[in-house]
Amino acid sequence: MKDNRLFNETDASTDEPPPAFAAETAESSALQTSLFSSMPVQADFSRWNNWTWQMQNRIRSIARLRDYFPGLDSTGIHEAGAKFPFAITPYYASLIRRAERTDPVFAMSVPQMAELFDPACLKDDPLEEDEDMAVPGLVHRYQDRALLISTTSCAMYCRHCTRKRVAGRRDTCITRTRLERAVKYLSMHPEIHDVIISGGDPLTMSTEMLETVIAAVRSVRSVDIIRIGTRTPVVLPMRITDDLVNMLKKYHPIFINTHFNHPVELTPQAIEACGKLADAGIPLGNQSVLLKGINDDPHVMEELLRGLLKARVKPYYLFQCDLVRGVEHFRTPISKGIEIMEYLRGRVSGLGIPLYVVDAPHGGGKIPVLPNYIVSTSPTHTVLRNFEGQMVSYPEPGPHKAPHTGKTDRGDSAAGIWELSSGQHTKIQPQNCARLNRRETRKQTAAMLSPEA
Ligand SMILES: *Cc1c(COP(=O)(O)O)cnc(C)c1O
Ligand code: SF4
Repeated sequence: MKDNRLFNETDASTDEPPPAFAAETAESSALQTSLFSSMPVQADFSRWNNWTWQMQNRIRSIARLRDYFPGLDSTGIHEAGAKFPFAITPYYASLIRRAERTDPVFAMSVPQMAELFDPACLKDDPLEEDEDMAVPGLVHRYQDRALLISTTSCAMYCRHCTRKRVAGRRDTCITRTRLERAVKYLSMHPEIHDVIISGGDPLTMSTEMLETVIAAVRSVRSVDIIRIGTRTPVVLPMRITDDLVNMLKKYHPIFINTHFNHPVELTPQAIEACGKLADAGIPLGNQSVLLKGINDDPHVMEELLRGLLKARVKPYYLFQCDLVRGVEHFRTPISKGIEIMEYLRGRVSGLGIPLYVVDAPHGGGKIPVLPNYIVSTSPTHTVLRNFEGQMVSYPEPGPHKAPHTGKTDRGDSAAGIWELSSGQHTKIQPQNCARLNRRETRKQTAAMLSPEA
């Protein structure tokens, strides 16, 4: 047994049962009876908008789910929820429109029998984060950045989570001893300039505890930027309080990456939460996971990306689903991701296009995956194609040889790839191209408007 496994040590809180189906506290069940015994559940807005109330009243049982969805088919929920932690904020549950797998919010939050399917290629820790753990809780994989697991708890346990081995296993946040060890490691490694405070979800900690962690990381002089990874703007937007943003502002430069996967998650409240963070000067990025039946569709993805931009969130990564145990039913082929990237380029503002990456099994880090845009190369020219299928020849910088002028075997006028790569032609133009049709229409309009017409 390695001794650097996460939250297995005596300084982490020990033998609590996994939170799925844990007994609710007397206090939260009292609140819950008063609120959930009669629908609609949003009757008391002041409580609804209180994030600790949302946390205390998370749905963690089939019985509670039935309060919302009386007709629920509960097959497999208990089994999967016992294997992987289960908790849904009432807010996030309120975004479910149909209590079935075809509903994206339902599919991302309610345990399903399919999670128990366990093909051999899936692992608990496919990214081998435990192997790159420098000190407990600090993953140092890339030279200049490190990732600090600051808590194992989340507001909602995503069914597709890549850290299913960590998230929600025990609801516990980092201990002082661990934080001190992490800070010591950071101080001894001045090549680390970027620290990602992750989890779990760091924003499930109290603002005071979060500040302790941020201040500790900030105290290391070689750390330039602090990033926080959180799904709270999506599943618990009321967490983004004035107190929180006022605290965060003191530790700039702070970046936040959040995790929207579907346009239905971009509610007015979620957008407001992002706006508050942006107003505090925090650049916002989004990391989506490509999920079968949820967002593996070019049009759904386009709507999500446009919505994120409007909310001032820059789409940063689109992740291929990791090979993590319990997520087989969410996996979709890499070819699907490439198809989506092909669709987006040229159609959606470049600001809205994330980088599609495969986080390499065995911990090799993120590998960008793109459609092929390089068609051919020669020492003098590179042949590229654009989203329309136009192919162009890009002449490489000199010293320039005399251009090849011999006749081609296709005759002088026929441009093929070889003619582009040898510099005899500069482009191959597909017929009926929307962009060129627009140019033509503009010319005609200009001619009609000109005085001679
Ligand atoms: C993703 C990740 C990072 C950050 O990578 P960026 O490409 O800089 O966003 C750092 N450390 C680990 C272990 C990661 O998984
Ligand atoms: S919020 Fe992040 S860490 Fe938590 S369950 Fe979702 S994906 Fe996993």
